[in-house]
Amino acid sequence: MTVELISVGTEILMGNILNSNARYLAEKCAMLGFNMYFQVTVGDNFGRLQSVIRTALDRSDLVILTGGLGPTEDDLTKEACAAVMGVPLVEDAHTKALIEAYFRNNIYREIPQNNWKMTTVPEGALVLDNHNGMAPGLIVEKNGKTAILLPGPPGELYPLFEEQVMPYLQKLRSCVLLSKTMKICGHGESQVESRLLDLIDAQTNPTIATYAKVGEVHVRLTASAADNESAEALLEPVAEEIRRRFGTSIYTEEEGVTLEAALVKLLTEKKLTISTAESCTGGMVSARLVNVPGASQVFMQGMATYSNEAKMRLLGVRQETLKEYGAVSAQTAREMAAGGAKAARTDVCVSITGLAGPGGGSPQKPVGLVFMACCLKGQVKAERWQFKGNREKIREQSVMKALDLVRRCVLEFSDGAAQQAAGEEAGL
Ligand code: ATP
Repeated sequence: MTVELISVGTEILMGNILNSNARYLAEKCAMLGFNMYFQVTVGDNFGRLQSVIRTALDRSDLVILTGGLGPTEDDLTKEACAAVMGVPLVEDAHTKALIEAYFRNNIYREIPQNNWKMTTVPEGALVLDNHNGMAPGLIVEKNGKTAILLPGPPGELYPLFEEQVMPYLQKLRSCVLLSKTMKICGHGESQVESRLLDLIDAQTNPTIATYAKVGEVHVRLTASAADNESAEALLEPVAEEIRRRFGTSIYTEEEGVTLEAALVKLLTEKKLTISTAESCTGGMVSARLVNVPGASQVFMQGMATYSNEAKMRLLGVRQETLKEYGAVSAQTAREMAAGGAKAARTDVCVSITGLAGPGGGSPQKPVGLVFMACCLKGQVKAERWQFKGNREKIREQSVMKALDLVRRCVLEFSDGAAQQAAGEEAGL
C-alpha cells in the first residue's frame, strides 16, 4: 500500500508554522507498514490544490490531506478533492446537527453563514466526527483510491486519527505490524548500535532501528505477521536478547513511558520520597517529576539554589567547600544532595551543579561541565559529566543524567537491601 501526504496551508509554505502533522502522520504510516514515497505541501489555492491531489491519486493508493477543512473562504481541501475525484458535495444531516448543537452550547446566538460550508461532504464519504472541533474528517473512496481528509489543528487531528482513522487503516493491511520500543539510558547511540550490530545486520523480521534522543536511545523492534500472536512470538526472542545485553539500562518497554514516569513508578514501588537541589537546571528536574501524574506520592520538595548563598542557607553547603572546590564541583554536589535530603526530610535528594554557558568557562572548568549527586538514605553517589551543545542542550542532558542517576541508585540500593535480607535469612 503506497500512501502520500498532502499538507495544505499557505502558513506552512511561508514558514509561519512547523509542519508537525507531517511528522506525526509519517511516523504512524511507517508503523502501519505503509510505503510513503511523497509528501507535498501546498498553499490555499484551488488550482494548485487540485493539481497536487490529482498527481497524488495517480501515483499512490491512499492520500492523506491535512488542513483547509474549516469554514473560511481559503479552506478549499474538501472542494478540491471532490472536484478531482468527480464526487458531488452534498449536505450531511448528521454533521449539520452536530454543528447546530455546537453553536447552541456555545455563546454564539447565531450560526455564522460561512459555517454551513462545513455541513457538506463528498457524496458517499465516510464522515468522522470531530470531538475537538467542528470540521469533520472525511474518507472518500473511488476507483480503488482513497483520500482521507483531516483537520489541520493537531489537537483535532491526533485524536481523530487515533480513534477513527487508525482502525480504518488497520483493516486495509493484509498483515499485522507489531512494535516494541525499548528505551535505554546511560549509553550513547553508537554504543547501543555496536552492541546490537550482529542483531541489526541479521535483521529481517523483526526489524531493529535505533533512535538517538536527548540522554537516551530508543530501540524499536517491528515484526510483521499474520496476527498479533505470531508477531509477538517473533518479537519476544529478540527483545529478550536485548534485555540480556542491556539489563537495567532499559528503563521501560512502553512507548508512552518517559524516564521521569519510570522513576516515579520505581520510587513509589520502593516507598521512597525524593527532593531536588538544583543549580544550573533551576528546577527542571522538579518540573519533569511533577509532570508525572501521581508524583505527589514521592516528590516532596524542589529547591532551586542558584547562588552560593542559597546553597549554604537552604542546603547547608559549607562555605569552605565552595571556597576550596568551587560551586561546580563534586564536593559541592555531594553536600547539596545530602543537605537537601536533610532539609526536605526525604529518603532521596538529587543535586545538580554545572556550567551551562555560554560564558563562565575556564580551561579547568569548561562550559558543559556538570556535577550531580544522589543522596539515598545517607549514602551519596556523585558523578561528573562533560556535555556538549548550547545552554539548553547542556541543561536538558543534565536533567536526563540526574533522573537516571537516581534510578540507578535506587536499583542498587534495592539490590543491596535484598542481598542483606537474604544474608540475614541464611544466618550470615
Ligand atoms: P480550522 O477549522 O481551524 O480552520 P482547518 O482544517 O481549516 O481547521 P487550517 O485552517 O489549515 O485547518 O489550519 C488551522 C491551524 O491548524 C493552523 O493555524 C495551525 O495552527 C494548525 N495546522 C494546520 N496544519 C498544520 C500542520 N501541517 N502541522 C501543524 N499544525 C497545523
